[in-house]
Order: sequence, then structure tokens, then C-alpha cells
Amino acid sequence: MLTRRLPATVEPYRLAANHERLEGVVDLEKLARLQEEIGAQRGQVEVMLQFDIDAQRRHLIDGELRADLSMPCRRCLQPMPVAVSSQFRLAIVSDDARAADVPSDYEPVLVDNEQLNLLGAIEDELILSLPQVVYHDEADCAVSREQLSSGDASVDTQARPDNPFDVLKSLKGKL
Ligand SMILES: [Zn+2]
Repeated sequence: MLTRRLPATVEPYRLAANHERLEGVVDLEKLARLQEEIGAQRGQVEVMLQFDIDAQRRHLIDGELRADLSMPCRRCLQPMPVAVSSQFRLAIVSDDARAADVPSDYEPVLVDNEQLNLLGAIEDELILSLPQVVYHDEADCAVSREQLSSGDASVDTQARPDNPFDVLKSLKGKL
């Protein structure tokens, strides 16, 4: 288990030149934007980062993260545990012109004054890896199927037609 806390900023060019690997955790309570999205969080996100330079002298980061989050159930709005993990690839760029050069499977990340805002980059990845909607299992949900079908539920599922999974899930919840 990882216990070392990652620094808020790092020097990515130096780390890439040394092909360094960073592993550690970030306290979720430090990630304000994440908590705006899904509510207060406890615990940590585990992060592994491999820094490298490729044959074209591009500075790259291959990353992986894992976290146990709490997200509101779309049906009853009570928090429920959600395990999130993702792999991501970042390319360090110092200006927008360089951003056009990054490999297609890498996401450009702007670095200011040779300092990478590591916490910000991890928070971005974590937010991108969130599932769109989550639901309790029916037995665990505060809003029962009967309440939903009789229309008593104060919280209705808000099916968004732009996401077919939302529609499917809301239909499933009403059957
Ligand atoms: Zn629920």
C-alpha cells in the first residue's frame, strides 16, 4: 500500500530526463473541484507516474490512479461508494505551439516555469474518470421501486436523451 504523499508540484523535465517513477497518494480533501462535482470526500487517491523522454525528445508521463470515492446515487441522492481507476498519458509542453507536436494518444499538459501542477493534473484525471451516474442496488436504495412507479418519489431520475445509458438506467429503475 502506498503511503507517501505526492508533492503539489514537480519538475517534470528533470524527472523525465532521469526516467523517474513517482508513486504516492494525494488526500482527496485537498481536491476542491472534485468535491464540487460529487460532494465531500475522505481517503486518498493512489497515483503512479512514470516520467520519460521519447526518441523525439518529447517529455512524457504514463500514469495510473485509483481511488475509493463517494458519489450521490442518482435515484435517492444519498452517497454511495464508487471505486474509480484510470490510466492516462500526458505530454509536457511549455507553450501552445508545442501542444500540436504531442503524440496522438497523449494529452498535452502546459508547464509553467518548469513546474508542473501535479495535484491539478491528478484532479483533472480523477474528474475525467468519474462515472456519469451511479445508482444503489435496489435493496440498498432509499427510494424504492414502488415509490418510483407510483410517482411518490420526490427525486425522479432525470434521463438525459443525449446519453443512452441514462435512459436505459432510468427505464430499468421504473420497470
Ligand atoms: Zn439510492
